[in-house]
Amino acid sequence: MHVAFLGLGAIGWPMARRVAEAKFPLAVWNRTASRAREFSEATGARAATSPADAARDADVVITCLPNSPEVMSLLDGGDGLLAAMRRGAALVDCTSGEPATSRRIAERLRERGVDFIDAPVSGGVSGAEKGALTVMVGGDRAVLDRVRPVLESFGQKIVHCGAVGAGDALKAVNNALLAVHIWSAAEGLALLVKEGVAPATALDVINASSGRSNASMNLIPERVLTRAFPRTFRLALLDKDVGIAAAVASADAVPAPMLQLTAALWKLAHNSLGEVADHVETVKIIEQWAGVEIA
Ligand code: NDP
Repeated sequence: MHVAFLGLGAIGWPMARRVAEAKFPLAVWNRTASRAREFSEATGARAATSPADAARDADVVITCLPNSPEVMSLLDGGDGLLAAMRRGAALVDCTSGEPATSRRIAERLRERGVDFIDAPVSGGVSGAEKGALTVMVGGDRAVLDRVRPVLESFGQKIVHCGAVGAGDALKAVNNALLAVHIWSAAEGLALLVKEGVAPATALDVINASSGRSNASMNLIPERVLTRAFPRTFRLALLDKDVGIAAAVASADAVPAPMLQLTAALWKLAHNSLGEVADHVETVKIIEQWAGVEIA
């Protein structure tokens, strides 16, 4: 299968690298062209000059962009995917996107005889580097089966979740839970510092008890206590994910006060810390409010 990979960001790059290492003939495109050239030099993949140039010979086109509107924006125009993709090819969107926009993209592609699945991923940059991502798929199961060998180059657990949009919806809820856990764990630890409990002691107990989460077990010990705060997943993207979950809840008339509040808090964090901050740096806001350091 010939593959095109569009979007060599923090997670797109290691995912595309896994595709190249699995020996699929690969063309890559990135909005900032120098990054595609760098990737080409590192892996031997072909650096394409436009989405259309990348997609022309591809059986599978993978997109990994910030959100679904950016994916939609690649469809149109002379350099766009609609004009270039072959009938019978598939667009696999690994963006953590919006279910409703994915359904619109799928519809537009269907008119051209091109298949679509939404296939957002979880597991972070380190999971991508190891080929150990979880891939949650919405769309036709037969299309998933056809492209599965490509997804297996970066995904370990590949789950069919439902119709187009189901992967996006599940990813948004997963990340909303991540956001709740980071925020609530940081609030709890801040108050424990004020009560004279060392954060390491607090985490030792919490992680052997019922309040534990990925935030308490991994993110806070590795990134906050050490003050390392590595930049692997932008806060702006998690804000976007929680916003998607809250918007879907509203559209589906599901009362979700916790999700709505979490969306508002992460919007505030995003506005305050800017575009390049990592999601875990949000803890700094809670530290600032409380006047303590969780270290
Ligand atoms: P980055 O911000 O690191 O990279 C974004 C990529 O999208 C870059 O290649 C950027 O190009 C490109 N891009 C941005 N806007 C446009 C546009 N309008 N048109 C075309 N290309 C555009 O994001 P990540 O790689 O971290 O994330 C990508 C997706 O994966 C997101 O949906 C994110 O939520 C999800 N995700 C990320 C994880 C992570 O740990 N990082 C984990 C799981 C999911 P350019 O180089 O020109 O800026």
